[in-house]
Amino acid sequence: DSPPDGTEIRQLDEDTVARIAAGEVVERPASAVKELVENSLDAGASSVDVTIESGGTELIRVADDGRGMAEADLRAAVRQHTTSKIEGLEDLESGVATLGFRGEALHTIGSVSKLNIRSRPRDADGAGTELVYEGGDVVSVEPTGCPAGTTVEVEDLFYNTPARRKFLKTTATEFAHVNRVVTRYALANPDVAVSLTHDGREVFSTTGQGDLQAAVLSVYGREVAAAMIPVEADGDELPVGPLESVTGLVSHPETNRSSREYLATYVNGRAVTADAVREGIMGAYGTQLGGDRYPFVVLFLDVPGDAVDVNVHPRKREVRFDDDDAVRRQVDAAVERALLEHGLLRSRAPRG
Ligand code: ADP
Ligand code: MG
Repeated sequence: DSPPDGTEIRQLDEDTVARIAAGEVVERPASAVKELVENSLDAGASSVDVTIESGGTELIRVADDGRGMAEADLRAAVRQHTTSKIEGLEDLESGVATLGFRGEALHTIGSVSKLNIRSRPRDADGAGTELVYEGGDVVSVEPTGCPAGTTVEVEDLFYNTPARRKFLKTTATEFAHVNRVVTRYALANPDVAVSLTHDGREVFSTTGQGDLQAAVLSVYGREVAAAMIPVEADGDELPVGPLESVTGLVSHPETNRSSREYLATYVNGRAVTADAVREGIMGAYGTQLGGDRYPFVVLFLDVPGDAVDVNVHPRKREVRFDDDDAVRRQVDAAVERALLEHGLLRSRAPRG
């Protein structure tokens, strides 16, 4: 568009706006994987299979056996700001139970990739629907034979935004990000069978029939699983603070790594990172861990809905609490107690 007379300020066309917005939601393959896996979990899937090629840059496929979509739903789903999960701001304020609610993921992923969605509602027999979407436009919608549930394929991510594509890192790095995302959801949902396959090789798969311990075994292997001890603390057993409970598994101090990668922490079921939580964990281990060494941790924190804002930016996983100090003390106490009970801590001087 040429600017109207007398001004340099012009209206961007819809395509440009969509692609700029997409760059903010979908930064790399792992961000698309996160959105798609969240959709599958929100759809009540009992299995979620993630397949990627070349770190997700060439192909991301997320197949679920969730509630599925009929043709009209599928057409609506790829439009901007369409969601079945909330009706308005009031729903957000009373706390959303679903992982998604913005109604922008499918639309934005679809505006920077070639998207193919096949879906069939669980309770409808007969054909499902296949929708092909490219660079933000619906290319075709046709009946197709497919299992109940939804399979979303994202090909050539950022094919039409070369600047963003250029910022992608090596296949190994992009894969590591995807692995981390899928791992987080697999650990938080032991009742869902989650698998990850990269370039034809299965990275891990959980059975969907076990508990957290079983999920850790599937994801991290036997050595790590054997080193995990349970953390189980209610708020009233902890120092004063907002946390209602701290539960999960933490590793023996000697089973550690030089990366924070294996600190999987969740607040009200959402995978997040928070300085206060990490510092609480590290405080509990104290000098049992060498410098720059981190334990394996899968820790779930529950806080009252009004004490935490879920309306965080989709890309930001970092949360802050009103009272970070109290959260740090509570996490420290919960983890410390578990380690002490298992004789895994040298006693330490009481802190003031
Ligand atoms: P949001 O998750 O914020 O609602 P999305 O763009 O991710 O927005 O999805 C739009 C809508 O499409 C969802 O609200 C849901 O109704 C539907 N949808 C997306 N993925 C799936 C899926 N895997 N199974 C069933 N329905 C889905
Ligand atoms: Mg979503």
